[in-house]
Amino acid sequence: MGITDELQQLRQRGVEAISAAPDLASLDAVRVEYLGKKGSLTAILRGLGGLSAEERPLVGRVSNEVRVALEEALAVRQADLAASALEARIGAETIDVTLPGRAHPVGSRHLIEQIRTEVIDIFLGLGYKIAEGPEVELDYYNFTALNTPPDHPARSLQDTFYVRDLSGEQADIEGESDVLLRTHTSPVQVRVMEKSEPPIYVLAPGKVYRRDIADPSHLPQFTQIEGLVVDEGITFGDLKGTLDHVCKAIFGPDRRTRFRPHFFPFTEPSAEVDVSCGICDGKGCRFCKGSGWLEILGCGMVDPNVFGYAGIDPERYSGFAFGMGVERIAALKYNIPDLRMLLEGDMRFLRQF
Ligand SMILES: [Zn+2]
Repeated sequence: MGITDELQQLRQRGVEAISAAPDLASLDAVRVEYLGKKGSLTAILRGLGGLSAEERPLVGRVSNEVRVALEEALAVRQADLAASALEARIGAETIDVTLPGRAHPVGSRHLIEQIRTEVIDIFLGLGYKIAEGPEVELDYYNFTALNTPPDHPARSLQDTFYVRDLSGEQADIEGESDVLLRTHTSPVQVRVMEKSEPPIYVLAPGKVYRRDIADPSHLPQFTQIEGLVVDEGITFGDLKGTLDHVCKAIFGPDRRTRFRPHFFPFTEPSAEVDVSCGICDGKGCRFCKGSGWLEILGCGMVDPNVFGYAGIDPERYSGFAFGMGVERIAALKYNIPDLRMLLEGDMRFLRQF
């Protein structure tokens, strides 16, 4: 059998194999078998060198025809297979537009942030402005300018995180420094009074820090909302009326408030405010430990010494200040037995609010 016959047979076998290939992968295998570097046609072409000069042009031309024929057959079969593969995929992946969509859970603001915003909104409604101050604060603003002398218990290491340890240098108490994490939002009062003239009606919400071990009623970091009013003719009656209104706005119109004498270095007189227990309505129950009342905030008339530090004339102006813990309000409003639950990030708990 001559070499041209061999080539024609190869062409026929190749075309048959191509049209029989069931899928694109098999088709590629056929291509490699015939046209690849080690394929049948390539092997024949390599043998051309051994042919006589007369035979070579003919065999070369026929080989080329075979190659072109196989390539054309491959292209046609490939297009057919690709088209049917696409058709099969479209058939398999049809979208059922009547299926209900996948619901994504909707997030919400954390309870601490909800209460913070709620209280801010109440005071914005009364015409207060929002004030801010640094969380890393100077001793002067956190203590001294708030009439807290160096020997006051609130300055002890147990209560305050000091930032720089200047022991033996400027500190009055060992380990104490002039830079600290503010223990309350009250330093914002001083900063506001230094910068502005009365009338002053401001609310200062923010994080505060205490050297407390976290337990059901204490957190080393919590959120406080401070209020300050300075104007002519401000009395304790204004303070009582304002805070009674705020407590009713937070807890509900049926709740009552009472003011108990207390001591804070920066207010005189000072008081603690209780709100009537929402569970027993003042009769006494386990939640209010039998008293019928829940302690909610501290307040008082601004001490004239504080006005002195801030450069405000105590003969002309008077004012009141108050501070409340957002986490405590959240706990009282929603009967949360342990403040730590607010920070643990347990979604089963947080989703309730
Ligand atoms: Zn009660």
